[in-house]
Amino acid sequence: MQSPFKRKIVGANPTGGTICSYRVNGIKIGERYWFEYHCNESPSSAHAQWWYRSHRPVVILRQAETDPGEPLVFTVKFEDGFEGDVFEDELLKSPDEFERPDPPKAVGEAVVEALLDESVAVDLDGTLAKDSGWKGPEHIGEPVKPTLDLVKKLLDDGEDVVIFTARVHDGEKSTKEHIAQWLKDHDLPALEITNEKRPDMEKFYDDKAIAVEKNKGKF
Ligand SMILES: [Mg+2]
Repeated sequence: MQSPFKRKIVGANPTGGTICSYRVNGIKIGERYWFEYHCNESPSSAHAQWWYRSHRPVVILRQAETDPGEPLVFTVKFEDGFEGDVFEDELLKSPDEFERPDPPKAVGEAVVEALLDESVAVDLDGTLAKDSGWKGPEHIGEPVKPTLDLVKKLLDDGEDVVIFTARVHDGEKSTKEHIAQWLKDHDLPALEITNEKRPDMEKFYDDKAIAVEKNKGKF
């Protein structure tokens, strides 16, 4: 998962368009908007991840902290799972409001996919931790040593590991906290914990999974 960071106003836009202008339009948390990138347009820009995602729908996660007098910034989530901070003026209610009718050229899905960090999704119960039946969110089994070793090796190799567990479907903050503590207790870093399947997950380790041959339906 990419770390969201705040983009700065970077100066003149070489291809026209608006430069991070400021407009108050009452952005609502949890609502869906259309994102139009309004800053430095270049594949080599540190903000290319945003530029490539121009003209795409987003959901507003929260308002980011900004200094008084600065444009408002919101942390948003794109459909491909990417989260980042965007300026308020880049959030539009409908595609009709795009200032530039043409999205970034020659970037396409393949480039966006390549930009996404791939991750390995690892199930918790029965995969990373021993499963001896549900006893509540505060009870997590002892580690399954080979899987724990595998996760540590993946992390050492620089892989991005995500804990992919249905436990967090309850939406309770404390459920995630119990898992985070379990990870800490077993010398793992603070990994992302989710029950959401995303395109950046390239592999799944799961005791319930059945490997299916791609496009063949062979099991
Ligand atoms: Mg399991």
